[in-house]
Amino acid sequence: MSERKQIIVAEDVHKWYGKFHVLQGVSLTVNRGEVVVLMGPSGSGKSTFIRTFNALEEYQQGKIEIDGITLSHDLRNIETIRKEVGMVFQQFNLFPHLTVLQNISLAPIWVRRSPKAKAEELAMQLLERVGILEQAQKYPGQLSGGQQQRVAIARALAMQPKIMLFDEPTSALDPEMVREVLDVMRGLARDGMTMVVVTHEVGFAREVADRVILMDSGSLVESATPDAFFSHPKEERTRKFLSQIL
Ligand code: ADP
Ligand code: MG
Repeated sequence: MSERKQIIVAEDVHKWYGKFHVLQGVSLTVNRGEVVVLMGPSGSGKSTFIRTFNALEEYQQGKIEIDGITLSHDLRNIETIRKEVGMVFQQFNLFPHLTVLQNISLAPIWVRRSPKAKAEELAMQLLERVGILEQAQKYPGQLSGGQQQRVAIARALAMQPKIMLFDEPTSALDPEMVREVLDVMRGLARDGMTMVVVTHEVGFAREVADRVILMDSGSLVESATPDAFFSHPKEERTRKFLSQIL
């Protein structure tokens, strides 16, 4: 069976928080292996939108398909989706009372029913990939922010997801730690991971993204290649946004 090319298909997605129309008909298709960077002012709905891709948020109208599976209220679908879509948050959300190794091997053991030894072997491989193999036995509180975020990335990868979502993964980091996290993300992109990244890191977007999208007030305003987006934006709102961040 050939793999389908379009791995995320969101069509005319609407969501309300009470009376507040937070997603106002958002459509986005992401191809396998593509890296999409989503930018936009605070409160424009970026987090809400990408959180619908792994069913952390419900939506009321429209359609979302992840690798051919329709995201509905069916709980079986939600379990499958959570295995296939990894997520990394601004606040690393590690379990403070578990070691780094335990943080990474927990879900494979409990959700994927992987034998402990196998899960730990995979965890060690992932720690090597994110460059902190020597921290395996430490607790999150003993690590720097950049190291904790790399553990969070390894933890998401341990579920062997097909898609990785990043929600402002470097916004909570001290400047000197931003690069080590972006480098890990660059490596993932190079290895062909499908990624949707909310970030205002222009250098990363220019270098790594296939497409950059501006979201504002619950709608997608402009979608373009990095060069077109940053150097020749078509929309007035994009120009205004860029003048604020560049
Ligand atoms: P962004 O990630 O672009 O900053 P969010 O998706 O977090 O935006 O939020 C979009 C809007 O929805 C904001 O105005 C925010 O206050 C509102 N919002 C987010 N979560 C909730 C919630 N659980 N209940 C009500 N309003 C929310
Ligand atoms: Mg957000």
